[in-house]
Amino acid sequence: MTDGIFKRITDLSPCGILIYDNRIGEVVYTNQTFRDWGILKTEFVEKLLKDKPREIEFKGRFYSVKTVSDGDKLAFILEDITPLKTYQRAKKDFVANVSHELKTPISVIQSIAETLYMEEEDPIKKRFLNRILKRTAEMEALVEDLLVLAALESKEGKVLWEKVNLRSVVDEIIQNLKGFAQEKQVEIINEIPEGFTCLCDGHKIGILLRNLIENAVKYNREGGKVFVRAKREKDGTVTVEVEDTGIGIPKKYLPLIFERFYRVDKSRSREIRGTGLGLSIVKHIALIHGGTVEVESEEGKGSLFRVKIPPKGRQN
Ligand code: ADP
Repeated sequence: MTDGIFKRITDLSPCGILIYDNRIGEVVYTNQTFRDWGILKTEFVEKLLKDKPREIEFKGRFYSVKTVSDGDKLAFILEDITPLKTYQRAKKDFVANVSHELKTPISVIQSIAETLYMEEEDPIKKRFLNRILKRTAEMEALVEDLLVLAALESKEGKVLWEKVNLRSVVDEIIQNLKGFAQEKQVEIINEIPEGFTCLCDGHKIGILLRNLIENAVKYNREGGKVFVRAKREKDGTVTVEVEDTGIGIPKKYLPLIFERFYRVDKSRSREIRGTGLGLSIVKHIALIHGGTVEVESEEGKGSLFRVKIPPKGRQN
């Protein structure tokens, strides 16, 4: 009796349900929704049992997977999330395409404004041109960050593992930020030991470190310092820290700063240029390495960003 009701309820569910019996190694139940999908059971189940995925792609469609087990039987509750995936992909492609298309017009406007600025003598016109230059530089930074995010979310976002000399990566970033740091009168100190290596994607970790170090300079004070450190934990995890003696971040904003486009206190950030995308790029890169990023900060004293990269093969 209950079995009958159970069967009718599961048949009405928009989720596909499949029950596999471990003892006999066979599928013992599928509901109507699963059968309507017309999936070849054995091949699908093999994939489910082998990879234990939370999401599965099968013949061009995507399913989210929840698993329930009572020891003998395994029940898989599946949801067809293909429309959601299609929408997400279209959104990402759209952002990437728009960003790409904006690149050229922005740089054309920028170079024309630069030429006019240099030739202009009227101080009022010069001021306007300077504002155009500042705004186009902001647009350029935004487009660059959006393209980095788009690349990370695409196939290019795969981690290419290699042995990376972290100290050299940081030295190069310091070299590139030299002018900016001098202008801000901030000293960047590379405390990473000579020859310290880390197994990671060098290009992506370079982007991560540049974002953290640039922020540490940007949100610093005259005469301030930035320390970059790295150490290897007993389990092989590499911990990288970027610490600054800057303005710090109020506690209530700490959970929000890794969100896309989030900038702490617009009035304090207005003076300092930024896109609000830097830390979401940092978080994304840490996550694809199977790692984490955390922050400690005290308003008025400074901030410490800590990134942990587990050894290759320990990724989730
Ligand atoms: P932005 O382009 O605004 O720098 P981020 O995503 O890199 O965007 O950072 C988000 C916000 O977090 C910043 O607007 C800033 O207010 C705050 N923040 C980031 N790093 C620091 C830091 N080292 N010190 C103080 N505030 C910081």
